[in-house]
Amino acid sequence: MIDITLPDGSVKKFDAGVTPHDVAMSISEGLARNVISASFNGTTVETKTPLTTNGSLILFTWNDKEGKKAFWHSSSHILAQALQELYPGIKLTIGPAIENGFYYDVDFGDHVVSDKDFKAIEDKVLAIAREKHEFNMRSASKAEALALYAAEENPYKTELITNLEDGTITFCDHATFTDLCRGGHIPNTGIIKAFKVMSVAGAYWRGDEKNKQLTRVYGISFPKQKDLTEYLELLEEAKRRDHRKLGKELELFAFSQKVGQGLPLWLPKGAALRDRLEQFLKKAQKKAGYEQVVTPHIGQKELYVTSGHYAKYGADSFQPIHTPNEGEEFLLKPMNCPHHCEIYNTKPWSYKDLPKRYAEFGTVYRYEQSGELHGLTRVRGFTQDDAHIFCTPDQLDSEFKKVIDLVLYVFSSLGFDNFSAQVSLRDKENRDKYIGSDENWEKAENAIINAAKDKNLTTVVEYGEAAFYGPKLDFMVKDALGRQWQLGTIQVDYNLPERFDLTYKGSDNELHRPVMIHRAPFGSMERFIAILLENTAGNFPLWLMPEQAIILSLSEKYENYAKKVLDLLENHEIRATVDNRNETIGRKIREAEVQKLPFMLIVGEEEEKNGTISVRRHGDAGKSNQTMTIEAFSALVQEEVDKTLKTFQV
Ligand SMILES: [Zn+2]
Ligand SMILES: [Zn+2]
Repeated sequence: MIDITLPDGSVKKFDAGVTPHDVAMSISEGLARNVISASFNGTTVETKTPLTTNGSLILFTWNDKEGKKAFWHSSSHILAQALQELYPGIKLTIGPAIENGFYYDVDFGDHVVSDKDFKAIEDKVLAIAREKHEFNMRSASKAEALALYAAEENPYKTELITNLEDGTITFCDHATFTDLCRGGHIPNTGIIKAFKVMSVAGAYWRGDEKNKQLTRVYGISFPKQKDLTEYLELLEEAKRRDHRKLGKELELFAFSQKVGQGLPLWLPKGAALRDRLEQFLKKAQKKAGYEQVVTPHIGQKELYVTSGHYAKYGADSFQPIHTPNEGEEFLLKPMNCPHHCEIYNTKPWSYKDLPKRYAEFGTVYRYEQSGELHGLTRVRGFTQDDAHIFCTPDQLDSEFKKVIDLVLYVFSSLGFDNFSAQVSLRDKENRDKYIGSDENWEKAENAIINAAKDKNLTTVVEYGEAAFYGPKLDFMVKDALGRQWQLGTIQVDYNLPERFDLTYKGSDNELHRPVMIHRAPFGSMERFIAILLENTAGNFPLWLMPEQAIILSLSEKYENYAKKVLDLLENHEIRATVDNRNETIGRKIREAEVQKLPFMLIVGEEEEKNGTISVRRHGDAGKSNQTMTIEAFSALVQEEVDKTLKTFQV
């Protein structure tokens, strides 16, 4: 008999040789039907793998990440089989599961695969799947494995096997097909009910452009046709919400090849949006006791040698700027922290002065590889909503709670209500790789855990994920399409206070090291605005909209009244513009709709006579407009603003 420990901690006895499927059966038939993969003592196993020792078993269904991985890994075998049957003589290379689906890299020889081939591939894959083949793992000697691929004249698999140790090589067989594989399959191919080739792209063998270019065939599969339909709809919606597309349509930002890749240009409307976000955070930070500072975009190379950033970013980033003076070198700043440390160092501090909280919308530069650049989410120059808090170890607890309050305030004001937090702590075993005393680490880790608990955050604790200089808390938000993004971060740092010799005089009259907290609720303005765009599809909360309303005159005759309305709105602090062009009202409305302007205020003869406006909301096609006074409209706007934007309470 062996003991199987389940995730809930319960231990069950089974005969040695029991399979994960049998264990699932012993719990319920429904579970057994849905289990498609499992892990035993942390290693992926298949549902029919006999278990012969005591151990911990986790059963996975389609709803688990691991379940999807097995599903897609198995599907990739079928794709390879289908391709080989459709295009005899092709050379298969590798085909892993990825975040959404899987791919297979193939040397198609002279054949060029295009979307014309997709339908035939899909039909073939589904025909094979329907035959309900089981996946069978078997070991092979290195000689056998090499012989197999020598016969196929496949240099790629041969290279892979050459690098493997004899005795560790395994194959997976299903139907008439066999492939080099480490395992992790679903029970049989029959549970794959939907499959689609997503795209093809060029990919170099082993990612090296000196090697031959292969064709990467991307696919995705699902246990139900409905899941595929939903997935494709989600993709369409994501395309519509792509921040690069919306940024162009709403005239927020642009890129110029002349200025350089990854260096965004903020257009007037985008700059206004950024400014509103900055003012919003500055106001809350002022209440929370932050002081605003400003530091230059460059610093002497020595500064970053001291901070350690040169060692980290130096070689792979922008190279030093030289001056006419021999040996003088400056760097574009990759981080604001060293500058803030030097601000702290301008004066001696007593424990009574702490905490000091320095905030800056600081622009930093990092040389991302051009292939990594992506819209506003991966850029080479970006502005962090940065701040550094210098405090005593005893103040960490309350400072952490205050930062969490601020982050939660930012999230609620911007409509992110689905979020969780990741607490990153030290590796439990390997403690030498961290700087700072055990006592201080304990304090900091407890401060983070307590603060997160106190604020009722949903958290996951990850051991070994802390930086070498301190533990941290990262916020993850889910957007309207269910995609997860990492936003704000709070990090404790024992390293920089040491490197910059920061001190304060304690109550014992001795000098002590302050603890430093790095924090950025948005992360960076660029990335945050990208995520905000994709989450709201450009329909920002009303308080944030650079233009809240547009006045549309029915004809030039009402130009003066339109201007009068604009003045009145300005008195009520409503941000509006006038469209007085000699265009039809239909066209003016259509253009305002594209711009996602929340309110269209139409003025004509009736309105001028009665001193009113005719109000149409964005996206309200088909509804009749509401006629109201400027005062009533102003109250409506205020009410809506107050719903999302509350005053920050300290
Ligand atoms: Zn496999
Ligand atoms: Zn920092």
